[in-house]
Amino acid sequence: MKMKNLKKTEISTQKQHSDYESCILCHRQLSVLKKQPIAFRDYYMEGCGQLCYACYRMLFMDADSGSGVKR
Ligand SMILES: [Zn+2]
Repeated sequence: MKMKNLKKTEISTQKQHSDYESCILCHRQLSVLKKQPIAFRDYYMEGCGQLCYACYRMLFMDADSGSGVKR
């Protein structure tokens, strides 16, 4: 059993993550602070969210002309 503090404030805890972003695909926690401006982020897709390097690379290598290892 875990202790849960019921707060009177209407702050709904969306996710129990830390101050860091996590990848929208693999949900791995990244070293990108949530308060970090998007302009300064790597692997951020507007309209989608924060990606990790692996997922970003996978997506773009897939979409891009095949410079990857894909057959
Ligand atoms: Zn990922």
